[in-house]
Amino acid sequence: MDIHLHNTKTRQKELLRPVVPGQVSMYVCGPTVYDRAHIGNARPVIVFDVLFRLLRHVYGADAVTYVRNFTDVDDKINARAAASGRSIGEITEETIKWYHEDMDALGTLRPTKEPRATDWIGAMVEMIEGLISSGHAYAAEGHVLFRVRSYEAYGALSGRSVDDMISGARVEVAPYKEDPLDFVLWKPSSDDLPGWESPWGRGRPGWHIECSAMAHGILGDSFDIHGGGNDLMFPHHENEIAQSCCAHPEGDFAHIWMHNEMLQVEGKKMSKSLGNFFTVRDLLDQGVPGEVIRFVFLGTHYRKPMDWTEKKRAEAEATLRKFYAQAAQGVGTGQPYVLIEKALADDLNTAGAIAELHQLSLADDIAELRYSLQFLGLMGDDVPAWSKAPVVDLSTYADHLSRLREAAMENKDFSAVDAMKTALLEAGVEVKMSKQGIDLEAKPGFDPAKLEALK
Ligand code: AMP
Ligand code: ZN
Repeated sequence: MDIHLHNTKTRQKELLRPVVPGQVSMYVCGPTVYDRAHIGNARPVIVFDVLFRLLRHVYGADAVTYVRNFTDVDDKINARAAASGRSIGEITEETIKWYHEDMDALGTLRPTKEPRATDWIGAMVEMIEGLISSGHAYAAEGHVLFRVRSYEAYGALSGRSVDDMISGARVEVAPYKEDPLDFVLWKPSSDDLPGWESPWGRGRPGWHIECSAMAHGILGDSFDIHGGGNDLMFPHHENEIAQSCCAHPEGDFAHIWMHNEMLQVEGKKMSKSLGNFFTVRDLLDQGVPGEVIRFVFLGTHYRKPMDWTEKKRAEAEATLRKFYAQAAQGVGTGQPYVLIEKALADDLNTAGAIAELHQLSLADDIAELRYSLQFLGLMGDDVPAWSKAPVVDLSTYADHLSRLREAAMENKDFSAVDAMKTALLEAGVEVKMSKQGIDLEAKPGFDPAKLEALK
């Protein structure tokens, strides 16, 4: 099956034509490891997991190499270590472990290779030395800088001209720079910071060079797909292209560039100050199943902004319960539904794939529904256990609470009402009491077993 993907570089949907026929190579920028992944960080992970699954299906599991790095040397990590009194190694190890646990829970496959930047310092130094000798970089005051104006195509990916960048004032001026546009390849480290010996003294790499060095070391001069969030397009991806194309002019780095749009929460940009910031782990701990999170994500095309809402969560859970109840009646694994493959092969039309799931469900086509759920990463060998637990009808509890309230108003003793409210809350049920009546709503993490005592 032909796969078409939207290429940021050409602004068009293109047929995927692998550099090495029959084999596909993909590089996706991974996390900087100092804290739990927030829900937005999960978007590129899920998007490129869907692509990885599609590629494996079309080309064969062994024919696809998917590389996603861990940035384990970064000033944010250094700051976290200094503030917490813990070692950098402890923090990065713990965060990588968390990342794996949390992303596994979303049904994402581990990439073929997950290189850590600190294992690739030698390759970075070598690449920087090459850039200096070809005149694309220069050393100054313990730093090494990339000479942006030495690479003519700089800005082509994001469609910016070098002059716009200067007036945009997003560039940092520093005395050791020939030009404010030039960016750091290497910087000096003081004794209290992580550092490696280099021809320019003890120091550490700038952020961008790691992806260029690891992509080249693992995938070579030219490879098929490069992905990441669209916040990385400039400057990170522009810088990756400039470094790689100047260091290895015999190749042309990534052929197709894919960028996912950002995730918002209830219509607003997610931020700690707005109080709408949460991690994948927060949701999982509240009892939101990973499959439900994944299903909500698949509902929006990756090139559109996506909104995480409580309403979508509830709808996704109800839909998945219905699908799983049907799928549980079948057994085994087979081939996913061809219209679902087709939807994904058309620039990852995941919303179209979900529409096809609904069609299969309506037609009660159990085997294909089951295989397709597996293909989309929404179930393993069996449907998830949570989907087998019955949905509890809360109306009898609401009626009972309303009778207790009537009695309490007569005899002015609200203790029984309060006791029942507390028990409901403890079971994970939100209680809304008003003059109009009583409304009970099961929240994520709702535990029906705890309601037994109320019967
Ligand atoms: P970072 O660890 O900040 O470098 O981010 C890791 C990945 O998460 C990058 O590919 C970012 O583009 C992506 N990302 C960060 N915030 C969001 C968001 N709100 N929505 C979607 N992707 C995001
Ligand atoms: Zn990168």
